[in-house]
Amino acid sequence: MGSLGESSTYVRMMNSLEALGLDAMASALPGYEEMVSNGEMGFCTAVMELAAMEVDRKNGKEMERRVKSAGFPYVKTLDDFDFGFQPSVHKPTVIGLSSLGFLERAENVLLVGNPGVGKTHIAIALGVEAVRARKEVRFIDCARLVADLKDAASRGLVEKRIKYYAHCTLLIIDELGYLDIDDEGADLLFRLVSARYEHRSTIVTTNVGIGAWADVFGDAVTASAIADRLVHHCTLLKITGPSYRMKDLPRDTKRIGEEA
Ligand code: ADP
Ligand code: MG
Repeated sequence: MGSLGESSTYVRMMNSLEALGLDAMASALPGYEEMVSNGEMGFCTAVMELAAMEVDRKNGKEMERRVKSAGFPYVKTLDDFDFGFQPSVHKPTVIGLSSLGFLERAENVLLVGNPGVGKTHIAIALGVEAVRARKEVRFIDCARLVADLKDAASRGLVEKRIKYYAHCTLLIIDELGYLDIDDEGADLLFRLVSARYEHRSTIVTTNVGIGAWADVFGDAVTASAIADRLVHHCTLLKITGPSYRMKDLPRDTKRIGEEA
């Protein structure tokens, strides 16, 4: 370390950096100080690089906060998705979606397939891309969404709650169809989907093909009204392959639903 290392100026500078929370700058500073005093690096370049470190750190933290507040159950990206394992997923379509043009056009994405085929993974990965692009994203399990809207309705706050879910740039409704939805729930979901229709994008993951949504909602009219608005401007990704969770089972192991 150069002569500055022991001086009171150095100590005061370190204290100030610490007080400002510029930790990356403070820990890299001794190395830069040496390069500047040896004449290996100009002062401005050193300050520019140190400041860039702090900007990166701040952006990283901000992104972490945004990812957290989106409510993803886990964080996965498209780089983590093995397209080779799931050939029924049309890779160029998914990569195209990740450029987020669908958000600008307020289009939807519907991911249909059996459990474990990667629907939630792809939905999260697209959500993470949107967060990276600084869009407001909200991920919620369908049953929780319905319960939350019902709770708001019981307290006379449903308009406000629908507005809250209608507002975000991308709403991801996960696992529609795992639990049946009663008339009140179906009506609330319809109101939310209508509020977003042609204004904001929604991604829905479901294990139930649209043709069978009447069974989920217990009412064919509401089911088709919801489906109608979701699929009007929509990319449908139908995943027909095996569950990724079963991938390590030996090839001759019978899977659930297969003939014994
Ligand atoms: P579901 O279709 O039931 O929503 P998930 O997306 O939750 O399934 O996938 C189950 C698990 O398997 C997750 O951990 C997910 O990251 C992983 N997974 C699924 N498909 C793939 C894939 N093709 N490549 C890598 N991981 C995958
Ligand atoms: Mg899922």
